[in-house]
Amino acid sequence: MKAPSGAALSALASESFPKFVQSKACLPLVEQTDLFSRSIGEVTDIVEKEMYSFEDRHGDSLSLRPEGTAGCVRAAIQQNLLATPCRLWYGGPMFRYERPQKGRQRQFHQVGAEAFGFAGPDIDAELIALSARLWRLLGIDSAVRLELNSIGSPEARGRYREALVAYLAVHREALDADSQRRLETNPLRILDSKDPGTRAVLEGAPSLADHLDDESAADFERLGMLLDAAGIPFVHNPRLVRGLDYYNKTVFEWVTDALGAQGTVCAGGRYDGLVAQLGGRATPGVGFAMGLERLVLLRAELGVAAPAAAPDVYVVAVGEAAERTALAESERLRDALPAARILRHAGGGSFKSQMKKADKSGAPVALVWGEDEVAAGEVVLKPLRGGEQRRLPLAAVAPALAEIMTQGH
Ligand code: ATP
Ligand code: MG
Repeated sequence: MKAPSGAALSALASESFPKFVQSKACLPLVEQTDLFSRSIGEVTDIVEKEMYSFEDRHGDSLSLRPEGTAGCVRAAIQQNLLATPCRLWYGGPMFRYERPQKGRQRQFHQVGAEAFGFAGPDIDAELIALSARLWRLLGIDSAVRLELNSIGSPEARGRYREALVAYLAVHREALDADSQRRLETNPLRILDSKDPGTRAVLEGAPSLADHLDDESAADFERLGMLLDAAGIPFVHNPRLVRGLDYYNKTVFEWVTDALGAQGTVCAGGRYDGLVAQLGGRATPGVGFAMGLERLVLLRAELGVAAPAAAPDVYVVAVGEAAERTALAESERLRDALPAARILRHAGGGSFKSQMKKADKSGAPVALVWGEDEVAAGEVVLKPLRGGEQRRLPLAAVAPALAEIMTQGH
């Protein structure tokens, strides 16, 4: 299998998500702090501990974006992208003040996809299928598993929160300090505590699944059936709540066991209230974001690191006249064959040393110019992996290369 290039990933994403929110045009790296605290939530890890916030010259609080959804929704509202259902994607650096370690950086990169205006779980399934397809392309599908949960409507979650707090308050002393604090601030996050004492208490806790509203429960069931039909296995993880306030109904994570504690490579869910909350007309939304550094690490861990892209042709030229011709002809070839990767030798050197480089480049063929070829208006096409070399008139080079490229693919 050929490793997908960045361009292949972009093409895949744009096929399913045609409108590209250009990061420079409308997804700035810096937003009003308030945008993040209102959408992600005041008492979440990201807003409480992880944002890079600063005051600008007017005393307004700005923050480096810790994630893409809030800015995407803001931009989509302001640019009137939400009048009809639409699918958007973006990519770029995100910033979080965290302890740097393997798979956890303070500046990392996400690719995210968001779909607006679709209320049913079929779009959740499509987003999940899109990510599953990416894992196959990247050769990591056997190392990731899909964990799914429904966190219901805000009302259902409110009722569940009360039940959970009532139960946990009785066992307060057995909870870890962080969870005791969260009892007042963000009790649902206690569900994904890793503390053994807290986990033991949670064994007997009321279950979120029992408190779901009918619509969320029905949508969750339908999502499961759609994924089954698409052959995408999943695990229902009733403790999956995600750390951001804007989610409702479906939440999901793609998780690997190969990266230790930094095991989540992609996460997302539904956020049906966010557009209205940020001032737009009520529009359902759902999306995910994947962490590129973790995907790269996982590929390395699995030994599927991308091979360096070899050029299609390496251009060798010995002597000044040959160099001039080679440069001009390489440009003409690039015009004639836009898809061809043409690597022209730079820096001079003997025929032997240039041919060594040509060989090392991994290109299947070299184009070789010496004084003789220049004088004759010809060039030598030299296969580097066996086969006879040919001397060709210049006009015949582009068709010959095109043929070699089709054979190679
Ligand atoms: P974690 O639980 O690992 O802190 P998260 O829940 O904070 O992850 P999200 O906010 O959902 O992560 O971000 C989506 C994805 O972005 C994560 O699954 C991960 O792949 C990546 N990611 C998040 N924070 C970092 C970071 N500091 N460094 C590298 N990748 C990150
Ligand atoms: Mg985090």
